[in-house]
Amino acid sequence: MSQSLQALDRAHHLHPFTDFKALGEEGSRIIEHAEGVYIFDAAGNRILDGMAGLWCVNLGYGREELVTAAAEQMRRLPYYNNFFKTTHPPAVKLAEKLCALAPAHLNHIFFTGSGSEANDTVLRMVRRYWTLKGKPQKHWVIGRENGYHGSTVAGMSLGGMAPMHEQGGPCVPGITHVRQPYWFDEGRPEGQDPEAFGRECAAAIEARILELGEENVAAFIAEPVQGAGGAIIPPASYWPAVKAVLAKYDILLVIDEVICGFGRLGEWFGSAHFDLAPDLVPIAKGLSSGYLPIGGVLVGDRVADTLVEEGGEFFHGFTYSGHPVCAAVALKNLQLMEAEGVVERVRDELGPYLASRWTTLADHPLVGEARTLGLMGALELIDPVSGERFDKALAAGTLCRDISFRRGQVMRSVGDTMIIAPPLVITREQIDDLVTLAREALDETARCLAP
Ligand code: PLP
Repeated sequence: MSQSLQALDRAHHLHPFTDFKALGEEGSRIIEHAEGVYIFDAAGNRILDGMAGLWCVNLGYGREELVTAAAEQMRRLPYYNNFFKTTHPPAVKLAEKLCALAPAHLNHIFFTGSGSEANDTVLRMVRRYWTLKGKPQKHWVIGRENGYHGSTVAGMSLGGMAPMHEQGGPCVPGITHVRQPYWFDEGRPEGQDPEAFGRECAAAIEARILELGEENVAAFIAEPVQGAGGAIIPPASYWPAVKAVLAKYDILLVIDEVICGFGRLGEWFGSAHFDLAPDLVPIAKGLSSGYLPIGGVLVGDRVADTLVEEGGEFFHGFTYSGHPVCAAVALKNLQLMEAEGVVERVRDELGPYLASRWTTLADHPLVGEARTLGLMGALELIDPVSGERFDKALAAGTLCRDISFRRGQVMRSVGDTMIIAPPLVITREQIDDLVTLAREALDETARCLAP
């Protein structure tokens, strides 16, 4: 059964972020079902999902309440839109819930079907805002190298992933990227102190603003912690310095919470952890725990007031903006997270516990740094002989990822950075297993790479 599925998959299915040719004879792994923090493949293997799918299954798999919410809504109203002065209860209730959970100045939400669409919407709103303010020339958006904001043309342009720009360019004009606060790869090799490095990265934003002309810069967009770039936790000096620069030149702050939102960092929104008050907040993923596709942009009062009072019709929207079934599931997901104290548990118990266990991996010869924040973690792989990065041709991270999967755990690799972001309902015992499995994968990787 699974073999024929694999053959059909190879014949017909173009996978996202996959080298189609390199799938080879082995083909794709077929995941058949899932429960709690585990996924199960077609051969019946149980695999600890250390990545919560794609950083999204925050409540874990198999929650009947979400299934029921979807089925009930599908029976009552499977589809209607929010265009042209119509709406429906799930969209309204979810909007109210999100604005109640968000910081006080975020009182509006524009729904989308995904995080990428949310970032396209951000770009539209930023440009519209400054035009309405009589400053249409203020249209440049500064993002960060190696940042990720999605795969649509605007999303990949806002992001700073070089391979995406090379394949997908020319990018949307009016977007530029500055240095990322990635101390391990960019500050440490130069012998820099992390905090000095954090301030230097913030200073790079100011330098770019002055290069472009402060009157031309509309917004700065960033993830609180870069996710797809490598779970990059900025030095403590970074965000306060960035905030000061943006305030000095009256530039909007867009904080992409697609990964960090909904508990990942131990707060409902990752920006709370860094004391940020963003003007626009793209969200998706954990909003529905990934059970159905839904995203949106939380809009701060400053921008919302202008769009509402002065904007007239906003010529923008998606057929599935605020889809009733997706909204009903997202609402139930947030209600369950609240009732079960999931976010507080990550902040007070599971985050600190993961930190205490995950950082023990720093003693492994292959590990140059082990870091966590909330329930997100990374390991930087290094060559134990040189103490530096492995030769890229060895693809050590990919090797470790594949070994880990075979041994029963999903760990993602970004270059030679290994990442985890498990479901937020993981237990302490399961965290122990996760760390043990990671160590075993490192051991086997070290044996494979030994000269
Ligand atoms: N923004 C961030 C920070 C993300 O990590 C992602 C996806 O990984 C996106 C946006 C794009 O979201 P989607 O894949 O739902 O379009």
